[in-house]
Amino acid sequence: MKTFPYFYIWKSYNVHNKNSNFLTFYKNFNSKTKSIINFLDNKKYLFYFFILAVFFSVYSLTINQIKSYNESKEKKFHSFLKSNEFSNLKEYIFENLISPFREYNYIVENNDTIEKILKKYNVASDDINNITTEIKKKKLSNIFIKSEIKILIKEELGVNKIVSLFYPINEITTVEIKKNKDGFSINKNILKLNKKEMVLSNTIKSNLYSSAIEAGIEPNIIIEFANIFGFEVDFQRDIRTGDKFEVYYEKYIDENNITRNTGKIIYASMFVNNKELSLYNFKFNNEMGYYDVDGTSVIKTLMKTPINGARLSSSFGFRRHPILGFNKLHQGTDFAAPKSTPIMASGSGVVVMAQKYKGYGNYVLLRHNSTYETAYGHMFKFGKGIRQGTRVNQGQIIGYVGSTGLSTGPHLHYEVIANGKRVNSQRLKLPTGKVLNNKARNKFEVERIKIDVKLADLRKNK
Ligand SMILES: [Zn+2]
Repeated sequence: MKTFPYFYIWKSYNVHNKNSNFLTFYKNFNSKTKSIINFLDNKKYLFYFFILAVFFSVYSLTINQIKSYNESKEKKFHSFLKSNEFSNLKEYIFENLISPFREYNYIVENNDTIEKILKKYNVASDDINNITTEIKKKKLSNIFIKSEIKILIKEELGVNKIVSLFYPINEITTVEIKKNKDGFSINKNILKLNKKEMVLSNTIKSNLYSSAIEAGIEPNIIIEFANIFGFEVDFQRDIRTGDKFEVYYEKYIDENNITRNTGKIIYASMFVNNKELSLYNFKFNNEMGYYDVDGTSVIKTLMKTPINGARLSSSFGFRRHPILGFNKLHQGTDFAAPKSTPIMASGSGVVVMAQKYKGYGNYVLLRHNSTYETAYGHMFKFGKGIRQGTRVNQGQIIGYVGSTGLSTGPHLHYEVIANGKRVNSQRLKLPTGKVLNNKARNKFEVERIKIDVKLADLRKNK
């Protein structure tokens, strides 16, 4: 590479110094070339750099051009794929040229009826009439929102005729409509469900609900479970971390092992406050109930807490009255709860009073039997139909939490009155519900042993 600049210099020197003698030429040559060589040596790198820069910019420009060209081509192709022209074309090719059949999966919207849906697909009106009158007659026209309807249509000489139609009318029943020679055949397909017995248990970490969900128990079973234990356990106050529960119940599964429904709780057990309480399902006088090992019904005449989700804020006994400011016997139990929380009748009985009453504000007094009465104070408002003389059932809503009367904040003041005397509802040994005797007790014993055997078996196979 070095020869190239020398040769070039020699030539150019000759051109510009025609008249100089050899010596001066040589001298000049020597000193001048050196500086020129140096100069050109630097220039050379600049030149190379320039060439390289040009090359790279041309290269990157070209690459970008190619890339963006490909991208736009791809974009165009994708938008074509997504375009209506293409899908119409596809539909045309696949459905019109190859086959006159068209299949649709329609998701039911609000206020849809089979008639409306078929009209959306321009189904022939005689088909719509035939189908809708038949399904109305057979009471199979109840479709529900978000369910899927499968429609198969055949186009005959420009008219859309129904070939088949499938739609669910509930969790386990599908209606199957098929075209036949005489019109349409309409069948009801009921999913075959199998009863499965489950035993699930867990230790309570924060609350019953989350621990039960963790164990795989369905929410409605958890609610039922809490109801069964509602007379014995206060889920707000009695539950501690480490308490245990177990539930044995029925559920119904389909062929794909998917739970379609739950049945009854056969047995439920809780280990709370270092005590174990086991309850067995038993039908007595055609009435299903839950009984402990001794055959005593879990349902008490009075509930301990006539309110859900409340916190005991002041118990029965002497205390400094928050408003009156002096020590006074608090003759009831206070449950703090948000305004409007429903208050339940703690037992069945008759409304004696439902009115404004002294410092109690809006007040309800219930008479349960010759011994017991209960009173509820500071209500925001009364339950529907609650007035003097109304008969109420245990658990019925009689009013809503408020702060009327002498009260500092929303709470329920609850009193239990035994033989006309106010007693501590939380210490009260509440009279139990029915106790199974004689024949019923023997039947229960047999039933209970059966359940225990089954239970031991199911626990082993878990
Ligand atoms: Zn009170």
